[in-house]
Parts: sequence; C-alpha cells; structure tokens
Amino acid sequence: MEIQMRSLSMVYPNGKKALDNVDLSLTNPNLIGLLGPNGAGKTTLMKLLTNALLPTGGTITFDGAPLAAREQELKSRLGYLPQSFGLFDELSVWEFLDYMSALKGISGSKAAIERALADTNLLPQRKSKIRTLSGGQRQRVGIAQALLGNPEFLILDEPTVGLDPEERVNFRNLFSRTAQNKLVLLSTHIIEDVQSVCNRFILLGGGRILFDGKPEDLISLAQGHVGTVREEARLSECKAAVTSRIHTAKGVVCRIVAEQLPDFAVLAEPTLEDAYLYLMEREGGKL
Ligand code: ADP
Repeated sequence: MEIQMRSLSMVYPNGKKALDNVDLSLTNPNLIGLLGPNGAGKTTLMKLLTNALLPTGGTITFDGAPLAAREQELKSRLGYLPQSFGLFDELSVWEFLDYMSALKGISGSKAAIERALADTNLLPQRKSKIRTLSGGQRQRVGIAQALLGNPEFLILDEPTVGLDPEERVNFRNLFSRTAQNKLVLLSTHIIEDVQSVCNRFILLGGGRILFDGKPEDLISLAQGHVGTVREEARLSECKAAVTSRIHTAKGVVCRIVAEQLPDFAVLAEPTLEDAYLYLMEREGGKL
C-alpha cells in the first residue's frame, strides 16, 4: 500500500489555509506519529486521506491511482477513528460493532467483532450499554470499530485525548499489539504517547511539514539547543523558551530550549519532547 501526496493544499471556504504545499509518501508497514499543536492541520490532513474532504490544490494517489477513484477500495482497507466520534449510547458494545461492520460491508462479521473486542480488551463489556462505559472504555470501542476487519491502514486522530494516565498506558500497549504490519497514522499533541511506539514522525506547524523522519534524527536537531538553568530571572536577557520547571531541594531548575544557549545554562541531552518544542518555538519565531 502506498499513498502519495503531492503539493497538497487545503484552503477552507472562509479563506483559512489549513495545509500548504504538503509532500508526503506513506507506505506500509509503518507506525507514524503525526505531531503538531492545535490548528497545525493534522485533522485536515487525515480528512483528506479518508476522502472526507477534497483538497483545493495538489493530488493524493493511492497505489498509483487518484484517491477519489479508489474510494471503495480505500474504505475496505482503512480503519478510521475520527477526533469526535459519536457512539450510540443506547446500543450495547456488540450491537454497535455489529452496526459498524454492516456499514463497512465486512463479511464474517461475528468473528471480526470478536477479534476487535479481544484486541481492545472489551470482551467483558460486550453486552454493556455504551452509556454505562467509562471514558477509556468508550475510547476503546472507537478503536475497536477502527480495527474491525483487520484493516491494513489505520488513521487514529488524537486517540488518547481524555484518557487518564493509566488508560493512556493501556492504549500504548494495545497500539503496540495491534498496529504491527499496518500503516498507521496517529495524530497527537502528547508526545509521550507515541515516542515509544512510532518509527517515523511527521511534524506539522501552520499547515507545513517541519520535520519528517526518524525519532533519533528529530532529537539530533535539538542537540546543543537544550539546557537547564537555575537563575530563571536572567532568562529575560536572552531568547529562550522554558519547557518545564522542576522543583529540587536547591530551588527551581528550568529546562529551556534556545537557538543559542545562554552561558549560564548547563547543556542537557535532548529528549524527543525537547526536540518537538524546540522546532515549534523556532517556527513560531520565539527563539
Ligand atoms: P489540528 O487537527 O492540527 O488541530 P485542523 O486541521 O483541525 O488542525 O485545523 C487547521 C486549521 O484550519 C485551523 O486554523 C482551523 O481553525 C482551520 N479549520 C479547520 N476546519 C475548518 C473549517 N471547517 N472551516 C474553516 N477553518 C477550519
């Protein structure tokens, strides 16, 4: 499976440019983290990939043919968890998945539902009404419907939003179990949720691609630009962004990113999160 985007642009009718000349190639298997702050264009990109929106410029091809011409085939090979996902509260989990498999035209739907329930650890809740489920369980129902029929292409838009820390760990485990051998595009602004599972990261900012590559290459970009300082007041003397404050017995230590670290900073080894913040702050003209 290969999806190619060439000079892809999206301008909404109100004139808002959500994507600006995006070139991307996606092949399977690949676990891709799509990162970027709110408004970066992640959801727009995902909607274009599912053919829910048509681009105002550029092309998308799916295995060599225009995506729009292959919509039916795409639907049968794609599992999609949109950001706001409406569940039918009065249906049981099983009834809902049965309804979704009918919509998707999945043959052997009983086995497909059982598999999706097992993958998302929802077998005990299969008869429960959706309105009785916790936030984490509801999210898993959304993921279960995306997994129905074992699609080879998965698009998950902010799957960890609203989950508590334990549920987020569960999601990471679920993702590592079910996403192997697929092409997965997972959008998030919580890097912690994807750093251990994704092998490629695409960073979007203001509708443009700021980075596309391996996690270690992203981290390398921030080498020499991350440090810690104890004298926070002195930061007003330089252009730096504080990414976290850590309370220690000797006072507060600030972690900063800067194009040029001040001489009172102690150089630190960048993490993926530092690298992400460094690129975002630099893009926003704050460094
Ligand atoms: P993200 O998913 O990264 O938060 P979106 O793709 O939702 O970003 O939005 C990108 C930009 O497009 C934002 O500025 C947003 O306000 C705008 N936008 C999104 N949907 C619409 C729409 N239907 N009409 C007009 N502007 C939109």
